Parts: sequence; structure tokens; C-alpha cells
Amino acid sequence: MDLGIKGKRALVCAASKGLGRGCAEALAEAGVDLVINARGAEALEQTATAIRDRHGVAVTAVAADITSQDGRAAVLEAAGAVDILVTNAGGPPPGLWSDWDRDDFIAALDGNMLTPIALMKACLPGMIDAGWGRVVNITSGSVKAPIPQLGLSNAARAGLTGYVAGTARQVAPHGVTINNLLPGIHATDRAIMLDTGVAKAQGITLDEARAQRQATIPARRYGTAAEFGATCAFLCSQHAGFIVAQNILADGGAINATL
Ligand code: NAP
Repeated sequence: MDLGIKGKRALVCAASKGLGRGCAEALAEAGVDLVINARGAEALEQTATAIRDRHGVAVTAVAADITSQDGRAAVLEAAGAVDILVTNAGGPPPGLWSDWDRDDFIAALDGNMLTPIALMKACLPGMIDAGWGRVVNITSGSVKAPIPQLGLSNAARAGLTGYVAGTARQVAPHGVTINNLLPGIHATDRAIMLDTGVAKAQGITLDEARAQRQATIPARRYGTAAEFGATCAFLCSQHAGFIVAQNILADGGAINATL
């Protein structure tokens, strides 16, 4: 399917690896020029080169912490006016409800709620002026069903979801859509980190921890970054202009709910 976005320009945050990279790759395949970001310069440059070579689009790489004010400013300056924004950052650490104090919550809110909000605030005016724009926020299945050990994520992402629900309906009259894409478990470094935590906590091997978590997913496997990226690219396509303020779950059926 032609997504109808060839020649558009996208900012994809936290995109040297994992789900962000999957989104960047899928947008590049659709002919979108990219500004990509991550903190580690080496992996970021490797990803930029690989995407340029594979898809022939322009890729600008900005090594910066997207959750810091200075990092965001550098990324936004390099990006300039964009048609498409994919917000993403690392997830907060796991733990118990009793572990976290105010500073932990502030860090989680900064990374997974206030950062995407600041990015939208910076990019939406240009999209509104152009009469066309797409925003996809990578959040988490934890928005629909809480993950006990990820209380910081449950809290911060719920706040972002509320903000998007209101804001998306204010920008939709200008041809701009905002939606959230909610990953269940995907085979990325983040999943390995969480599998390792399960293995340690239960005194089992990493393979056993992975098998245990896979068994909880009706699809009986982890998702891939490529599948996730393709869904993101569709939400950024011309065809998705009537999809507004939705929370789209990509989780292999893991959350057992009718709606
Ligand atoms: P990942 O494989 O660990 O990749 C994270 C990417 O983000 C890397 O490119 C990393 O590069 C970059 N990054 C991290 N923190 C950053 C920061 N502060 N500024 C700029 N770039 C940053 O993670 P993932 O699995 O793709 O997860 C992406 C998001 O989805 C996370 O918020 C995660 O919590 C959420 N999520 C993932 C899953 C899953 O199963 N994978 C499930 C639910 C939710 P650098 O380290 O070099 O910066």
C-alpha cells in the first residue's frame, strides 16, 4: 500500500534501537525524510547510515537526551518544521510501589509525560499552519492495564494519555491527528532488561523468564519492532486522517479486554 507520505519530514525520537528505530525504518520505507535522535552517538550514526543506505531518504542524526531541556532544544532546532512527530524515550525503571519517592516520580513524569508534551507543543503550530500533521506517541499497554512492577510508567503514561485525549480534538480541525501507540511486550533491549529482572527475582534462567512471559501472550511470542513500526507508519499515512485521539494496542492479545 502506498502510504501517501513520500517526501514528508519526520522527527522520530529515541530511535537508534528498538521500537523507535522500527518506526523510523517504516517511515523511511514510505519515502519520509528523517531526523532521528538517541543519546548514544555511535549507535545512532550506525542506524542513520543503515536507513540512508536501505531507503535512500535524508536522515539527520542528533545525539542528545530528549528528556532534557537542552537536548530537546538541539533536536528541535535540527528538525525545524516537521510533518510527522513520533515521541519516544526510555521507560522508567521497574520496582515496587513502596520504592519510589518524589524524585523518582518527577523523573518519570519528565521522561514519559512532560517530554512528549513539550515536543508536541513545539511541533504542532507548524503542522496547524501547514494544514496537515501526524503525531504518534509511543506509550505502553500499561495505560490500559497496569503493570504492577512499572508503577512509574503506569502513572506518567496515564497523564500523557489524558493530555492527548483533550489536545487531539483541538488540533484535528486543522488536519492534524494525534494518536498513541501502546506496545505490549516486544523483542527489544527493554524486553531483555525486564526479562533479566524476572529471572533474577525468581532464580530462573533468562530463557525460562522469556518463555514464562511469552506464555501470557495469546500470540505466544513477543512483537517485533518492524511490526510496531509498520503500524506507526500507517497512523502517519494519508489513509489514517480520520483516526483521532486513539490508543492503539499492539500486544498480541495480552490484555484480556473486550474493548
Ligand atoms: P529500547 O530497545 O531500550 O530502545 C530505546 C531507544 O531509545 C534507544 O535507541 C535509546 O538510545 C533511546 N533512548 C532511551 N532514552 C533516551 C533519551 N532519554 N533520549 C534519547 N533517546 C533515548 O526500548 P524499546 O523497547 O524500544 O522501548 C521504547 C519505549 O517503549 C520505552 O519507553 C518503553 O518503556 C516502551 N515500552 C516498551 C515495551 C517493550 O516490550 N519493548 C513495552 C511497553 C512499553 P540511547 O540509550 O543511546 O539513548
